[in-house]
Amino acid sequence: MKIEIVSCLNDNYSYIIQDELTNTVGVVDPSEFKSIDDIIFNKYQKLDYILNTHHHNDHIGGNQDLKKKYKAKIVASKIDKDRIQNIDLYVDEDTKFNLGNIAFQILFIPGHTKGHIGFYSKEEKIIFTGDTLFSLGCGRIFEGTFEQMFSSIKKIKKLPKDTKIYCGHEYTKSNYEFCKTFDTTNKELPKKKLWIEDRIKKGLPTIPVTLEEECNTNIFLRCDNIALKKELKMEDSSEVLVFQRLRNLKDQF
Ligand code: ZN
Ligand code: FE
Repeated sequence: MKIEIVSCLNDNYSYIIQDELTNTVGVVDPSEFKSIDDIIFNKYQKLDYILNTHHHNDHIGGNQDLKKKYKAKIVASKIDKDRIQNIDLYVDEDTKFNLGNIAFQILFIPGHTKGHIGFYSKEEKIIFTGDTLFSLGCGRIFEGTFEQMFSSIKKIKKLPKDTKIYCGHEYTKSNYEFCKTFDTTNKELPKKKLWIEDRIKKGLPTIPVTLEEECNTNIFLRCDNIALKKELKMEDSSEVLVFQRLRNLKDQF
């Protein structure tokens, strides 16, 4: 499978994906029409599917024009049926969706929004996480509870550790600043910092990252870490309370 990372708007990522065997083409979260259409038109001349993780405009902005031009089918959560226009394929937790020969499983991961989903392919070892999990961070909780968001993140955390994460935004550098402020004893973070700076200097995305790497560096995946809990003076608190504290701190950071 081929995945092309497309920078959109200020800091969004859309992803053009192709099953080369069947020449089936999709786009995950097209933020805008033009930057996607430039590539689709010049390189693929077709678009079969538009996959939306959630209804926010920076993830669906290109939907209607792309659908119109290429007759692409929109795949989205049935919970978003009133706020994403012209959905062709409603999906839900555990719905199977095939992009050509590539099987995707839908993960229901609410919290950022109440209909948020992730697209996971076990065979390809990839997941598109939208605004639920970022590299070194997680999305703001707009429509859910801390418990919901935390259980969504834990659902992702349980996937195989070599799964590659493709998220909705390039927030890695600023997320790093937050992680290092509160996870001061984490020895993986200084190495990560050098890598992030190198990528940014070269004008390259810091995406994808493996789940294993995230488990070692992303503070929101480390709510059970003893050293971190100590730093927060929350040794006796539950994981979800640690998560809540961190999410609140991040909102004010
Ligand atoms: Zn969003
Ligand atoms: Fe977003």
